[in-house]
Amino acid sequence: MWKGRWAELFGNEYPIHMEIGMGKGKFLMEMAKAAPRINYVGVERYSSVLLKAVQKQEELLLPNIRFLCIDALELPEMFADGEVGRIYLNFSDPWPKDRHAKRRLTSPRFMKVYDQILAADGSVEFKTDNMELFDYSLESIPASGWKIEMETRDLHHSPYAAGNVMTEYEEKFSSRGNPICKLIAVRERMK
Ligand code: SAM
Repeated sequence: MWKGRWAELFGNEYPIHMEIGMGKGKFLMEMAKAAPRINYVGVERYSSVLLKAVQKQEELLLPNIRFLCIDALELPEMFADGEVGRIYLNFSDPWPKDRHAKRRLTSPRFMKVYDQILAADGSVEFKTDNMELFDYSLESIPASGWKIEMETRDLHHSPYAAGNVMTEYEEKFSSRGNPICKLIAVRERMK
């Protein structure tokens, strides 16, 4: 178990940034290549999807990347309080039916998990092309005790576009002409 000892695993004290629902890991690997002084952890619950990322990482051998095949709800078992610096949620499954709302990665249930493992000044960065999920998140995140620090409904044509690294889904959806929404959330009150 590496809970509370991720710095030991990476062999340095660099901040840990995490993508939850990383899919095949394109975003995470590009980020890790560009920022060698950040440690990246990819979380994906399906091993069949994660396998593609593992195969790519075997070619790239980036020293600052690790993968976890778990459900995000299990994160507090794997990370000490405040051990993570930033969480990325990219094109999370929308779960459109009301009865499945608690499965959405921006629902209060998941925001509570992020509150536990994120550092006091940590942030959650969320991108989606799904307007309904974005509208839902703009309500559920503040209702969970967070504030929305930045939001846009057309990331690629906004001042926030500079430095944006596209995910696999982002490439697919933006090539169809879908505008990409993004928000950044931080705690309402510093812990
Ligand atoms: N982030 C990638 C991208 O933007 O290209 C993949 C997006 S894909 C639509 C969402 C991924 O999140 C799926 O691979 C799914 O298995 C994963 N996922 C959904 N809920 C999860 C959870 N609770 N814990 C871990 N992974 C989850």
